[in-house]
Amino acid sequence: MQATTDGGHALCIIGSVMAENSAGSENEVGDLKGPILVVGGAGYIGSHTVRALEEKGVPVVVLDDLSTGHREAVKAPLVQASLSDRAGLAEVFAEWAPRSVMHFAARCYVGESVTDPSIYYRENVINAWNLLEAMREADCRELVFSSTCATYGIPTALPLTEENPQVPVNPYGRTKLHMEHMMEDYANAYGLRYAALRYFNAAGAANAGDLGEHHDPETHLIPLVLQVALGQRDEISVFGDDYPTPDGTCVRDYIHIVDLADAHLRALSRLQAGAQILACNLGTGDGYSVREVIDAARRVTGHPIPERMAGRRPGDPPELVSGGTRAFELLGWRPQHSDLNDILADAWRFHRAHPHGYSD
Ligand code: UDP
Repeated sequence: MQATTDGGHALCIIGSVMAENSAGSENEVGDLKGPILVVGGAGYIGSHTVRALEEKGVPVVVLDDLSTGHREAVKAPLVQASLSDRAGLAEVFAEWAPRSVMHFAARCYVGESVTDPSIYYRENVINAWNLLEAMREADCRELVFSSTCATYGIPTALPLTEENPQVPVNPYGRTKLHMEHMMEDYANAYGLRYAALRYFNAAGAANAGDLGEHHDPETHLIPLVLQVALGQRDEISVFGDDYPTPDGTCVRDYIHIVDLADAHLRALSRLQAGAQILACNLGTGDGYSVREVIDAARRVTGHPIPERMAGRRPGDPPELVSGGTRAFELLGWRPQHSDLNDILADAWRFHRAHPHGYSD
């Protein structure tokens, strides 16, 4: 079949995958075989997924250059290396012989991608291609990839399903979509089997309170709100209250990091069982406005959390909420931990235990 990049073709493959591979039951992750190479496993989503793999007894090796990740977040064997080092990457595959790969290592700030797209093309496209090549050379064929709802651009309809055309509106979304296209082409030509998991707003922290979200600089709403509650900031800026939403502030779909990690394990087990292409949204289907998030954080922390109206942040769509049932159909996945209060309570536990984030 000719490789194309249109959604209809991808759907056709996904449809056949569904026919051949049962999604399994709702409560079942499925069998997993290691070792798994987790690229970017020292970062926020990667470290929580490593934790989930380890809880299932699956051998893991983390590859991370620690440019934004944290050594303290990793208990698994860690290779500190960059995806730009192709020779080093080949050595990692030779030494660890991973059965499958999960790829989290990427730049993820929309604003930065507009002002400095060079970093995004280098890290999210060229380095991702290096990884695909290393996998091809090592005959490693199963890849779970962190994609994003930013690949859709401005939604044509809400809630946002996988039927929405992928027309990203910033370099971040474009570079992530480039990788989706590369994976599709490698699937058609070289037999790669992959999952493209399009996240909505990852949030929360492991319930144990030892893993959490630590970005430098921090730009995300929930950690910033909690920094106000910790007394580290005087107030939270609300970026715009004149959007066409019920209270005028932007609406987002916040998905608990533990639910995201679970979806990755499910995707991996289905790839290892023979699925070819799994592309789906990971969101809850529930949207919360910036004001609702701040109000919920006030209740959870008991802190008044002063807010200040600020102008709109460039590039912010008014509303991004996931729709559809594809993640359930493909992965048997439903969010279990993504009640907004639970997300905030878990994030708050991490922030109180680590008021300045990880030590490194
Ligand atoms: N936001 C805000 N104040 C902040 C940070 C974020 O009002 O200090 C808003 C932002 O404009 C967006 C929502 O909170 O509407 C979620 O932003 P975040 O950066 O957490 O995630 P994004 O949706 O941009 O990936």
